[in-house]
Amino acid sequence: MQMCGVSSRYCECESDMGAYSRILLAVDLTEDCRHVAERATAIADQADAELHIIHVIEPLSLAYGGDIPMDLSSVQDQIHEQAKSHLAEFSSEIGIPEQRRHLVFGRPDSEIHRIASDEGVDVIVVGSHGRHGLALLLGSTANSVLHGATCDVLAVRVGDDARHD
Ligand code: AMP
Repeated sequence: MQMCGVSSRYCECESDMGAYSRILLAVDLTEDCRHVAERATAIADQADAELHIIHVIEPLSLAYGGDIPMDLSSVQDQIHEQAKSHLAEFSSEIGIPEQRRHLVFGRPDSEIHRIASDEGVDVIVVGSHGRHGLALLLGSTANSVLHGATCDVLAVRVGDDARHD
């Protein structure tokens, strides 16, 4: 998202942003999410909105099905502990209090929709990679979030194609 340079008196995009009261920032906890978070916090500050954050842990059983004949519960516990501390650290850095942090298990798109609806969110902020070839055909989390959403979705460009200013 790019803020326009028009003065706030005339800028429609700024007044639209002002309509948001609750924002949900979805993070995959990779380096990319810093840029996505910058956009989300900028909008939250400008609109004086409540900023929530979500990270979804995909159960290993979902990713691998029954393909791995071993008990994955201890690996899953480690993933959970690591995600919990990364999310806490990242949320503290950007000033999101504990009660607005959501660490959940499941499919990222459906869990993001569920929390957005439970919390009465009016815009979900996700990162979006410029995709080409097979990746484009397979789709992305940003795409799935957009398709099932009942509120606005802001896709912030990340990765090599992102413009950092
Ligand atoms: P993708 O293009 O699928 O790599 O994901 C793009 C964006 O989707 C990320 O920048 C996040 O905003 C969101 N996302 C992906 N995975 C997760 C996850 N596990 N939990 C929360 N958000 C996610």
